[in-house]
Amino acid sequence: MSGDHDTVIIGAGPIGLELSCALVREGVEHVVLDAGEIGATMGWWAPGTKYFSSPERIAIAGVPLVVPAQDKATREQYMDYLRGVVEQFSLPVRTFTRVIEASVSSDGFALCCAPSTHAVGGPEEAREQAAPSARPRPAGQQTITCRRLVLAIGNMHLPRRLDIPGENLPHVSHYLRDPHRYHGRRVLIVGGKNSAVEAAIRLYRVGASVTMSYRRDDFDAQRIKYWLLPELRWLIDKRRVAFLPRTMPVRIEPPSVQLAPTDEEGRPRADAPSEALTCDDVLLLTGYIQDKTLLHQLGVELVGDEQRPRFCAQTMQTNVERLYVAGTAVAGSQRRARVFIENAHIHVRRIVCHMLGREPPEDAPMPELSLPEN
Ligand SMILES: Cc1cc2nc3c(=O)[nH]c(=O)nc-3n(C[C@H](O)[C@H](O)[C@H](O)COP(=O)(O)OP(=O)(O)OC[C@H]3O[C@@H](n4cnc5c(N)ncnc54)[C@H](O)[C@@H]3O)c2cc1C
Repeated sequence: MSGDHDTVIIGAGPIGLELSCALVREGVEHVVLDAGEIGATMGWWAPGTKYFSSPERIAIAGVPLVVPAQDKATREQYMDYLRGVVEQFSLPVRTFTRVIEASVSSDGFALCCAPSTHAVGGPEEAREQAAPSARPRPAGQQTITCRRLVLAIGNMHLPRRLDIPGENLPHVSHYLRDPHRYHGRRVLIVGGKNSAVEAAIRLYRVGASVTMSYRRDDFDAQRIKYWLLPELRWLIDKRRVAFLPRTMPVRIEPPSVQLAPTDEEGRPRADAPSEALTCDDVLLLTGYIQDKTLLHQLGVELVGDEQRPRFCAQTMQTNVERLYVAGTAVAGSQRRARVFIENAHIHVRRIVCHMLGREPPEDAPMPELSLPEN
């Protein structure tokens, strides 16, 4: 791996790759680094998971995403598509290269990189975080320097943990694996948003016995895809999926999980007894958080409850000169998905215009999706 670059993009997700296409078109020398494969965030979704977004909204760099039967794309179709884009534009992507340390230097940035076995995010990352001794010592480190740096690092790096006894047991996971494996199993799904709802429907269909525990009274129809909720409600009404509202696991002890009643705020009530539910697998689908390591190392200010990086909305430049953020990385650890691929394409044009000294593009983000002012 060689030394100096004009620009480095960290993250070969859809937005990092879309920016790379734009830089190739503009003749800006750069490299894209990713700790895993391209599109690695999609790599840990369960096989066959479909995007919620329509294909044209997640297509990048003007390359059509064509899907059979005019349906939503599966993660497999989208990963194939991303690979095709990388080939078509001969994007300078270096996969399985993790930036383990980043610093600001007098003329840009210095990145300490090491070969890696998986992306930042997903079950392997979570396993290593839960047991840091499991993380292999980085060997073969190299320093890459650059004049400009873009963090397209995403924001779903680690599960939002419940921090309860038993959370690290082997039958407990924060990731839905291949639904097939759950056939004939008693599965407790914890959560009440899209991932949990979708998992409940899919696991019911593969013949699992599904119970859902949600800390609220009911699902929030505003936050669940309109085609998922009616089906789940029907399954619950027909008692094909068991629903335990206002409950939360407080301890996992095979073969059961202790579920406590929750208060108005969705927190476990200390004054009420918990009840045991017997199950074979536990899926804690309670969301994901962003790894802030690089942001901290580079001195990026973090704002708000979600600890979003501070950046200029017109240029995507952070409080650190020549350091940009793009894609879902801008949103911090969002509790409600407000930044996703379809409203992050504009980041690419803003960054390119700023890098090349052009006027910022006029397109405003869709108002209902925009973030509050930084
Ligand atoms: C089940 C599910 C369904 C979803 N459906 C949709 C949908 O329908 N529409 C939508 O827009 N979004 C959806 N999302 C969210 C989607 O994953 C993101 O929108 C998309 O991946 C964000 O793209 P990105 O380029 O911003 O970041 P990511 O795709 O997350 O890419 C970030 C990359 O940065 C790399 N990286 C991070 N830190 C480092 C480092 N230190 N060194 C090297 N590499 C690093 C990571 O390995 C990763 O590959 C869904 C998510 C899930 C879990």
